[in-house]
Amino acid sequence: MSYQIIDGKTISKEIKEECRMKAEAYKEKGIEITLAVVQVGSDPASGVYVRNKKRACEECGIRSLSYELPEETSEEDLLALVEKLNADDTVNGILVQLPLPEQINENKVIQAIEAKKDVDGFHPMSAGALFTGQKGFVSCTPAGIIQLLKRSGIEIAGKECVVVGRSNIVGKPVALLLLAENGTVTVCHSKTADLREVTKRADILVVAIGKPKFITADYVKEGAVIIDVGIHRNENGKLCGDVDFDSVAPKCSAITPVPGGVGPMTIAMLMSNCIASVDL
Ligand code: NDP
Repeated sequence: MSYQIIDGKTISKEIKEECRMKAEAYKEKGIEITLAVVQVGSDPASGVYVRNKKRACEECGIRSLSYELPEETSEEDLLALVEKLNADDTVNGILVQLPLPEQINENKVIQAIEAKKDVDGFHPMSAGALFTGQKGFVSCTPAGIIQLLKRSGIEIAGKECVVVGRSNIVGKPVALLLLAENGTVTVCHSKTADLREVTKRADILVVAIGKPKFITADYVKEGAVIIDVGIHRNENGKLCGDVDFDSVAPKCSAITPVPGGVGPMTIAMLMSNCIASVDL
């Protein structure tokens, strides 16, 4: 079967270009959108993410403010910075890069960010807004998955959607978003009795389990659409997802590659949330 590659690189560029145009229009009205990016410690992976986020801000004409705090920063000091940024009217969005060092309670920090500046969409108010179908920030990776489907011309309404994984940042929010798009949604996890039987029902299968190449062709229905959220780097530095692309792709109608699928969408949706923060 010939399959469509769902091209996250191109779609994320389109979204960033739309954000750039909107940011420019706001600038003409005297509004400069500003994102505060806070990093604690010098974890190399976090460093890469933070640099990429700042670069995306530059591309989109969004001002970014950088706060690089030492590894030994106390919870109290980080919370004081968050309070300062909450009170600063020139700051639209606050992003605290996770994970945080162990002396800091991540949940406390997430909850300290004012909901109207919660561009990562992790605050319980944002999660509650998504749950009840109200206006609020949606976390970036799940929002990116919906954009990938819509902008690739894939209909969600009426489809059997199966999500593998139930994390707060991917599995649960993506399930709610698919439901809001009128999909018929099933959520699987590590205690699901017969995972293969459930995933084989899926017209749209979203995989976010954090296990390299776990989903092979025998988990997939002929003609399904596959969204692979996983990112893993093997010993040779090569990236792969939670889906075994080589065996699954020939069986499906459309699939996201790794890299170049879901990955680039996360930052594009962060930019989109920064723009949306002006009206929230
Ligand atoms: P978590 O580890 O938080 O969650 C994994 C989920 O998968 C859990 O709900 C777990 O079930 C479930 N799971 C684990 N093993 C199995 C199994 N054998 N069968 C069925 N379900 C299983 O991961 P995240 O949601 O944070 O991330 C998932 C993947 O996505 C990772 O590879 C991560 O790197 C990637 N990721 C990529 C992003 C991007 O921008 N592209 C952004 C965020 C994540 P249970 O709840 O029962 O333990």
